[in-house]
Amino acid sequence: MSQAEDQHRAPRPPKPGETPRFCPACGGQLALQLIKAGEPERLVCQACGRVEYLDPKVAACVVPERQGKILLLRRSINPGRGKWVMPGGFVDRGELPAEAAVREAAEEVGLEVEVGPLIGVFGTHVSPIIIVYGSLRVEGEAEPLDETLAVRWFAPSQIPWADLAFDSTRQALTSLVEQRGWPLPPVDVDSE
Ligand SMILES: [Zn+2]
Repeated sequence: MSQAEDQHRAPRPPKPGETPRFCPACGGQLALQLIKAGEPERLVCQACGRVEYLDPKVAACVVPERQGKILLLRRSINPGRGKWVMPGGFVDRGELPAEAAVREAAEEVGLEVEVGPLIGVFGTHVSPIIIVYGSLRVEGEAEPLDETLAVRWFAPSQIPWADLAFDSTRQALTSLVEQRGWPLPPVDVDSE
């Protein structure tokens, strides 16, 4: 393959955490360049000049709540395999965050949920935008479906603080129990 052909082959999609090497518009090479003083260097296509902004993914979750208990699921995949989290997932293009939360609750645990007021927006530098809703109405019987090993309704005193999947899970549930006036998590629990 000649160098010219090599530069115009179909771009390989980056794996999670991998910096893209090729322009999604034309397949040209991307290179880091300083565009604006004081901002980070950006990936710029050396063929068409398009700037490739590495935006964070947005995830949306809902905490199903019924008769004083909340539903959590045990993840069957990494990251966080075997740990507990509320239903949720990435927001698709063209989808509202609340719609994504409703869809994920149906896909993962088979519940029909009407989202309630926002519990908050949580996250870490790795995954900075996790939008978490409370629930107004929850219908159906929870069962482990997509990416889920088990489901369980937890009374506030039973929340598995030492066994949560992500820092954002702990942040969101801490905010929820504060908002409800439920018992706060023990301070000595490892947040990993
Ligand atoms: Zn390009």
